[in-house]
Amino acid sequence: MARTLHHFIGGRAVQGTSQRFGDVFNPATGEVAATVPLAGAAEMDKAVAVARAAFPGWAATPPVRRARAMFAFKALVEANLDKLAALITAEHGKVLNDAKGSCQRGLEVVEFACGIPQLLKGEFTESVGTGVDSWSMRQPLGVCAGITPFNFPAMVPMWMFPLAIACGNTFILKPSERDPSTALMLAELAKEAGLPDGVLNVVNGDKEAVDAILHHPDVAAVSFVGSTPIAEYIYATGCARGKRVQALGGAKNHMVVMPDADLDQAADALMGAGYGSAGERCMAISVAVAVGDKVGDALIERLAPRVRALKVAPGTDPEAEMGPLVTRQHLDKVRGYIDSGVAEGAKLVVDGRGLKLQGYENGFFLGGCLFDRVEPHMKIYKEEIFGPVLSVLQAKDYDTAVKLVNDHEFGNGTAIFTRDGDAARDFAARVQIGMVGVNVPIPVPMAFHSFGGWKRSMFGDQHMHGPEGVRFYTKLKTVTARWPTGIRAGAEFVMPVMR
Ligand code: NAD
Repeated sequence: MARTLHHFIGGRAVQGTSQRFGDVFNPATGEVAATVPLAGAAEMDKAVAVARAAFPGWAATPPVRRARAMFAFKALVEANLDKLAALITAEHGKVLNDAKGSCQRGLEVVEFACGIPQLLKGEFTESVGTGVDSWSMRQPLGVCAGITPFNFPAMVPMWMFPLAIACGNTFILKPSERDPSTALMLAELAKEAGLPDGVLNVVNGDKEAVDAILHHPDVAAVSFVGSTPIAEYIYATGCARGKRVQALGGAKNHMVVMPDADLDQAADALMGAGYGSAGERCMAISVAVAVGDKVGDALIERLAPRVRALKVAPGTDPEAEMGPLVTRQHLDKVRGYIDSGVAEGAKLVVDGRGLKLQGYENGFFLGGCLFDRVEPHMKIYKEEIFGPVLSVLQAKDYDTAVKLVNDHEFGNGTAIFTRDGDAARDFAARVQIGMVGVNVPIPVPMAFHSFGGWKRSMFGDQHMHGPEGVRFYTKLKTVTARWPTGIRAGAEFVMPVMR
């Protein structure tokens, strides 16, 4: 029996009134596990009104008290980690340990947000002029909104709302309609942690709910993570309506393997970064660039048997290395890319299309796929596949490899594997990518640094979490004050100058 989900507005579960619903699948079985209400503009209006009403009280709450709510939230998420991971696996499909790990990475942002009294400390200058002092402070924006993708139902929302709320804003989260239950549970835990009603709201929905956010005059800022065409749309539409917007998009992350690299270490890295979470990660490595004439074959020799032997199973199986894809529609899209790679002449060394799991014939499973001899003009190279498909390309030398990475339209993450410090240093300096790994395949920054790509992987100026996150969710005010008032400057008709 499929569950019917709800919204979470003003501190309580609220039934949908739009009469539009979406199906949430269990990707391992293909069955509908829940139906989710898809909000319209009227429901979004109500949620924004609730968040707006909660804003003055929350903004006036001292940062130390806001931090205490974050400490309590962190403890509750930790206590409920198993339940959260089980929800993620049930609706997204990824294996349980991976689901837990993603919650942990989200929690790191909560830990960062616990330091908000320190992070919001302003700047003060005594005596900018005689008897005149000046200070700067950062104040919250108002109602902020977050729109999140299916692939990290806990972590990506936690990149956004803990910091926004710790900064004194109130928040509307619009999670992916494919796996919305985790966001609802996070909101319930936040209430239990002491967040006043209306500070964190979850409104479920699709494009209609997103458009209601983008057009609402009382939404001050929008954080978005998802695919590039939608990120671009969110950025353009939100900015045109005067909102602050950070919109993170898709990726095609290259790992450059130099001839001097430890190839066993590089192969380990490619297995985890290429096939972990079935490749449904924005920081997954989907392209290996083999430099020189020997590295490509050596990598294929190491990778092929391991890709064939990948243990693909429901995410609840403790032995599983890779679970199913999120929906049948997404599975069909990924299969379409594999067909196109074959048609365009790439060599499909391992073909996962034939995988069948006994007892899970209707699940959205795909075996690992490995392409060799991929060329830059091919669709499987140019576009994001977002599945368990790794492409190996050859580059005759290091400069050709760097050019390949820099010429690609996406710029989210990249890595170089080498023992040569000169090459690593040059790569970090020259590569036109937002997040770079040196012998680290998935260089996701820790919470106290900021996360974001370049080129068409991100629209906006401030990356997520870390120092840029604090700047994104606050605005700067600078005060100039004259004390004691007894000092008289007289009427000044020229531009005031400090003396
Ligand atoms: P998506 O773009 O389809 O959806 C993201 C969000 O946008 C969802 O909440 C969805 O409801 C909403 N949305 C979808 N279509 C819309 C439309 N036409 N108008 C308005 N809103 C719409 O992305 P997805 O399939 O859920 O997630 C996978 C994508 O997210 C991949 O491209 C992946 O690279 C990207 N991603 C990027 C990062 C990053 O940090 N750069 C992180 C995770 C995922």
